[in-house]
Amino acid sequence: MDREGEIGVLGGGVVGLTIAYRLAKGGREVVLLDEGEPGQGTSYGNAGTVASYGIFPVATPSLWRKIPRLLFSRRSPLRVRWGDAWGMRGWYGRFLRETFRTRFERNVSAIEGMVRGSVDDWKELVVELGCEELVNGDGFLYIFDDETGRRDVFGDSAMRREKGIREERLGADGVRDLEPNLGRVALGGMYYPEAISFRDPGALMRSLARGCEREGVRILREKVMGIERGSGRVRVLTSGGDYRFGRVVLSMGAYSGLFARGLGDDIPLGVERGYHVEFDMEDALLSRPVCPVSRGFYMIPMSGRLRVAGTVELGKLDSKMSESRLRNLELGARDWLGSLPEVSREWLGYRPSFPDSVPVIGYSGSGEEVIYAFGHGHLGLTMAPKTASMVYDMVVGNGERDDWGVYGLGRFRV
Ligand SMILES: Cc1cc2nc3c(=O)[nH]c(=O)nc-3n(C[C@H](O)[C@H](O)[C@H](O)COP(=O)(O)OP(=O)(O)OC[C@H]3O[C@@H](n4cnc5c(N)ncnc54)[C@H](O)[C@@H]3O)c2cc1C
Repeated sequence: MDREGEIGVLGGGVVGLTIAYRLAKGGREVVLLDEGEPGQGTSYGNAGTVASYGIFPVATPSLWRKIPRLLFSRRSPLRVRWGDAWGMRGWYGRFLRETFRTRFERNVSAIEGMVRGSVDDWKELVVELGCEELVNGDGFLYIFDDETGRRDVFGDSAMRREKGIREERLGADGVRDLEPNLGRVALGGMYYPEAISFRDPGALMRSLARGCEREGVRILREKVMGIERGSGRVRVLTSGGDYRFGRVVLSMGAYSGLFARGLGDDIPLGVERGYHVEFDMEDALLSRPVCPVSRGFYMIPMSGRLRVAGTVELGKLDSKMSESRLRNLELGARDWLGSLPEVSREWLGYRPSFPDSVPVIGYSGSGEEVIYAFGHGHLGLTMAPKTASMVYDMVVGNGERDDWGVYGLGRFRV
């Protein structure tokens, strides 16, 4: 016989965990299903930054002038797996359309709506979870070492200022004052004093999972194999037997597309693969995450190690790890920081990405019993608390919010 539950949260990355926590805190009965240890996939290996300044989508009008550099430079932050490109042609077509000015401006507003308040939300959440020691409150720093980098970093400034984002332009001395251990001279940088980062995203995820359990969430290690709609309830087929829920939240990150398509929603979810390498060291040399903008990776001081994470590889979920991407990160970090120990570990993760860099948070076309919460791309950690609050309102029926249309499936129909 099927097991019964009120709400099933399918997938426990940072998005599923924050949703489950919020729902349980609000008095709902929640079962969270994840095939592995919750939070230890893409949400474990990211750059750990709550990027409240990160209002720009990947597709921007200026992308066109950067394409030759992005495609043909050996140090490029982007790599296209050409063997996978034919299967992703629909995604590429939509992505290029999102570079048009009107779409770009719409996407900036949508992203801003998700990142605004994220630092305060996370600060509140870590106090509830009792893991404040994981927070690094020293902001975030972009640096550049040539004129192109300067244009890339300072060029976006006006729009950020217009949105009330606090930033400080720095010259070479200003960068050196903040980060004296950089081995090379940066010409300048942009400092975001209000951003925070986490010293150990894996530990943060474990705190969230414990917080969920304290609030009564049942966390089960089961693989979801299918979702079926019928007679007002949702049947979830899993490796541990089947479940019937009144409501289901689909939050499996990059793996969500398959299940949404199974429910009849044809959505353009793609994947932007991202890597990290780590150097175990007592003193991680930096005080805050630093991004050399032309290289597209972050160097992040974490507990007992330096993590170098980022860059984008466009390809399929199941393609193999790219050795050249890993070396790109390692050599880039050595270039900026000088002598570093041997690489201690390497990692590949999957950003669940829509062409407009805006997540889907809304009802499935198959009915309001299934709520989608995936596609957070480069900013899943940043956007998770806001996502959880939106999903909570959908579940408890707090009345339609103005912003629902922005994040729903309707935008793919135009
Ligand atoms: C290199 C890199 C750096 C990044 N840096 C940042 C950053 O600094 N700041 C930021 O905000 N964001 C960052 N991101 C993005 C962020 O990590 C992602 O947006 C976020 O982790 C997505 O979370 P999620 O919960 O949607 O998905 P995931 O973390 O992928 O979680 C999905 C969960 O679903 C489970 N699952 C999948 N299939 C099944 C199944 N069939 N049955 C059961 N369970 C299943 C998985 O086990 C997993 O636990 C970065 C990403 C990368 C790759």
